Amino acid sequence: KALTAEEEARRREELKEKLREKLELEKRALKVVERLLDDSVAEDFLVDCAKMITPANYKDTVEERSIAKLCGYPVCPNKLGKIPSQQYKISTKTNKVYDITERKCFCSNFCYKASKAFELQIPKTPLWVRQHESPPQIKLLKQGERGSSGEEVMLSERCLKEEDVENPVESIKDPVLPLVDSHAQNLIQKRITVEKLSSCLRNIVGPLHLTMIDITTDLNNLVRTFRFTNKNIIHKTPEWTLIAVVLLHLLSEVSPLVREALKTSASVEYLNTLMVELGLQEQDFLNLVQLFKSPAH
Ligand SMILES: [Zn+2]
Repeated sequence: KALTAEEEARRREELKEKLREKLELEKRALKVVERLLDDSVAEDFLVDCAKMITPANYKDTVEERSIAKLCGYPVCPNKLGKIPSQQYKISTKTNKVYDITERKCFCSNFCYKASKAFELQIPKTPLWVRQHESPPQIKLLKQGERGSSGEEVMLSERCLKEEDVENPVESIKDPVLPLVDSHAQNLIQKRITVEKLSSCLRNIVGPLHLTMIDITTDLNNLVRTFRFTNKNIIHKTPEWTLIAVVLLHLLSEVSPLVREALKTSASVEYLNTLMVELGLQEQDFLNLVQLFKSPAH
């Protein structure tokens, strides 16, 4: 009996020791994160850090750095400039939609990609298990390797194969591609369109003595009827402005408020000036509006 009591005490002491060790490792990880918040961190140090932190620690680091207006990639000394407020970005080069939520934390596509590459190499095992593991072989991305614009949102839809139909459970479990369905794609495209139109209209409504509140609901209802593709949502700013003005005229069909606002001589003059800036004749513009107004028979 005396022996088992002694054993019990020893086991408890071992447990306490393990707990202490675990807390020490967590404390060390937080200290490392603190060091990674310095303006610029040596590459060797960053490589060395990987074994002492978790991927979650690193994510915190990136976030903390970007809040401090520093590029999220610890080895980069650059300050972050004006941070874009939108969540999505269309690349005119690749015609793809990118989620830039994470990309916004970095000064460049390179730093974003390098940081992601580093993050993926941090071991996912708990800190106190790692003593028995060989340290990870970390390789940092080198300057000159291509960067990344952000998480690609629109992934190509996977074609259904015959075996998927025969074996539907298998295909549901298949984790290969996160399927972004066409509904989700459409929502993103709609959101981009509304965002672009709103940013143009915000500048236009003032001189017309309208407010965004006067037009938002009708505009949303109209945009909801559009059929989007990857290509027809990519326009230059002057083109978005023209689209916005045409749509505003279409809204006058359903909104007496907009109709009256567009009739005033000040509005007519303002819109004419705008058309001149866009390099259009008034008649061109009216033709364009008419094109939308008359249903194609
Ligand atoms: Zn950077």
